[in-house]
Amino acid sequence: MDREGAECSVKVAVHVRPLIEKERSEGCEKCVFVKPQEPDVVYPRGSGHGFPFDYVFGSDGRDSHTLHDVCGRPLVEEILKGFNATILAYGQTGSGKTYTMGTGITRPGQPGGLANKAISEVFTRLCQASDRSWKASASFVELHREEIRDLLSRHPTPGGGLFLRENPGKGVHIAGVVEREVKTARDVEICLADGSRTRATAATEMNLTSSRSHAILTLSIEQTLTNDGGGTEILRSKLHFVDLAGSERVKRTKAEGQRFREGVSINKGLLALGKVISALVDSISSSGFVHVPYRDSKLTRLLQDSLGGNSQTILIACVSPADVNLDETLNTLKYAARAR
Ligand code: ADP
Ligand code: MG
Repeated sequence: MDREGAECSVKVAVHVRPLIEKERSEGCEKCVFVKPQEPDVVYPRGSGHGFPFDYVFGSDGRDSHTLHDVCGRPLVEEILKGFNATILAYGQTGSGKTYTMGTGITRPGQPGGLANKAISEVFTRLCQASDRSWKASASFVELHREEIRDLLSRHPTPGGGLFLRENPGKGVHIAGVVEREVKTARDVEICLADGSRTRATAATEMNLTSSRSHAILTLSIEQTLTNDGGGTEILRSKLHFVDLAGSERVKRTKAEGQRFREGVSINKGLLALGKVISALVDSISSSGFVHVPYRDSKLTRLLQDSLGGNSQTILIACVSPADVNLDETLNTLKYAARAR
């Protein structure tokens, strides 16, 4: 939607998770550092220079508990004003994308991720607002080898998956996708849990891991505001949580055949996303026209009306601090630095 007051904003954050038990037991050492006097610069071991970002969480950067305060809450504000927003988690498999976003099957005692906190805040705020009525729906899809699968459908489409459509009323949307009505944050949690289970089961049946697909949870909200004169205004907004496919290079997993094709099309989505984000960043800093190549992949087409325009985007690059992962960590930091 075109309303005054908001500008396209793209922020890039890095989330360094702690060493996990497996890494400790294998004798891994920490190789990603942050200096106290430069809390938003990441220094990987051995690289002569640091990588500056908008925010760095974890390690010795900002406390990761503040992730929601810094990244999630401002987007919730925009959603309530009728703008779209997207939070993406990028990084190699095992770097903490799903943990950071909260888009997986949660274990008891595990704290909620960004999605859980942001969604809970959206509903709290909607329920407090006395000047509006609202309705909300959630969808949850997986993008695998440029095919879209509905994670909330009881009858997943066999074969080719769902199609993207575009029209003036709905913008870019997935034809026939299940949009479950949600009245509380709990309703969205149920969608998340159902979809995560479907995702895991399908991956097992196809002998794949879900790390090779992108998962996209979308909360759509329609608010009807009544002003003092009795007139009404309708605000429509979408908030996307994108748990991206693992960014690791194909050769490292010794992929062949089917796996290799997956690697190629996954890279297509990640590659296209990188180009779109860096074009948006260029367009913010320059006054001239910058072409944004949304059409290069299904991922970027699907998110088109929530990346750029007057929507807000946050890319969170997730990294492991362990020395064994240093190569992939460097790749992730370079990707994220280009997007900034
Ligand atoms: P990815 O989705 O990138 O493959 P996961 O989110 O599944 O990675 O995280 C890999 C492992 O690391 C999991 O066991 C997860 O519980 C753990 N982990 C990730 N991030 C954190 C964190 N910030 N604090 C503690 N453990 C974490
Ligand atoms: Mg994951």
